[in-house]
Amino acid sequence: MKIQAINGFKDILPDTAVRWRHIEQRARDIFERFGMREIRLPIMEKTELFVRSIGEATDVVEKEMYTFVDKGQTMRPEATASIMRAFIEHGLHVQQPVQRLYTIGPMFRHERPQKGRLRQFHQLDAEIIGAVEARVDAELIAMGQMLLDELGLAVSLEINSLGCPVCRPPFKAGLVAFLEQRHEGLCEDCKRRTHTNPLRVLDCKKPTCRALVENAPSLLDALCPDCNRHFREVQEALQSLDIAFKINPFMVRGLDYYTRTTFEFLTSDLGAQAAVGAGGRYDGLIEQLGGPALSGIGFAMGLERIALLMEQQSDKPQPGDSMDIFLAALGDKTLAPCGQLAHLLRKQGLRAAIDYSGRGLKAQLKQAGRVNARFTLIVGDDEWDRQQGILRNMATQEQQPFDLGGTPEQQSLRLLGLVQPTTN
Ligand code: ATP
Ligand code: MG
Repeated sequence: MKIQAINGFKDILPDTAVRWRHIEQRARDIFERFGMREIRLPIMEKTELFVRSIGEATDVVEKEMYTFVDKGQTMRPEATASIMRAFIEHGLHVQQPVQRLYTIGPMFRHERPQKGRLRQFHQLDAEIIGAVEARVDAELIAMGQMLLDELGLAVSLEINSLGCPVCRPPFKAGLVAFLEQRHEGLCEDCKRRTHTNPLRVLDCKKPTCRALVENAPSLLDALCPDCNRHFREVQEALQSLDIAFKINPFMVRGLDYYTRTTFEFLTSDLGAQAAVGAGGRYDGLIEQLGGPALSGIGFAMGLERIALLMEQQSDKPQPGDSMDIFLAALGDKTLAPCGQLAHLLRKQGLRAAIDYSGRGLKAQLKQAGRVNARFTLIVGDDEWDRQQGILRNMATQEQQPFDLGGTPEQQSLRLLGLVQPTTN
């Protein structure tokens, strides 16, 4: 019996890993343009952290967490809570009042695995802590949009405001009354949510619930003056940055901690997995976790979904691995010196591949193609005796003689002059 990976936990094979790295590098580059700094966090946290931040009556906490019940520890289902925990624990605001932090890594949720929905999945997570201004909301959204743009992806942006502790409770009460009158028409989940988490009913995907809530009161009509102004300023700032968006008053994020601005980057190309990234403001969260009264805003993007979209949407060639040079050592005499040459080239920063099997030229050129070599140096025993190899440009198939005279160091430096290292 072969042992296979656990359902929902996936191997990232080299062809995919190279694309992921490309996405991660782009993300790091762009996030750092916005002054973000990386933070790396543990995979496990005390269960209480997620219960208190994400909220007890959320899908994530109710049914998606991987928890060691006897230890009170949980594999993180998202990164925001951990970032806030670390922020508070290390008093990061003392050093710098506004912290811009990002992290990239695996998250764990026990959901039904399908395309773009895994049990171990990976997020790019960015947070700005300590800034209340609406322009910051717009800047963070613009950063997410810039990443998706630079990756060549077309997504749509939807925004909403969830209000604050002043305007949300009365709205909630009105919504509960509305839902209670229509109780029979709601799905089982929404019947329960009416009292545990009524806002979530607004965002139920079932057609019957959707039809029912179409005429529900809108939170946007109930915003207090401060929330109203904030939401208007976010829109104005987005417009000034040329970021297109749609207001979706039914967008309710699945985590309890959100206040005011929420947003999602959406696609119709991944079936039911519409959200490529999502986020929002969480002004009460840090205080609720025992920290200072600071506000925050952040987003998380799904790496799997970005990678799938790139395969689907982008007509650019997908990034792949390549080697700078392949050394085709064709005779017994050439194996040792070519091995030495490969080692020196690697020391100088070239990606060098070599085949020690002594196979013929045809097989070795095929191998050079497989590893995506830009150049191949062909050295048979004859070439070795004459001290002249052949350097072949694999793309153009042009060949030129290559002088094998002098010490191995001299050979390698001559090669380096002809084959510059790939930079990526
Ligand atoms: P969904 O509605 O698709 O379940 P969500 O609202 O639960 O998403 P968030 O908690 O906001 O998602 O996480 C942010 C992003 O992380 C999502 O937009 C998505 O790209 C990604 N994501 C969330 N859950 C998964 C998962 N199980 N598998 C793969 N990616 C995921
Ligand atoms: Mg979810």
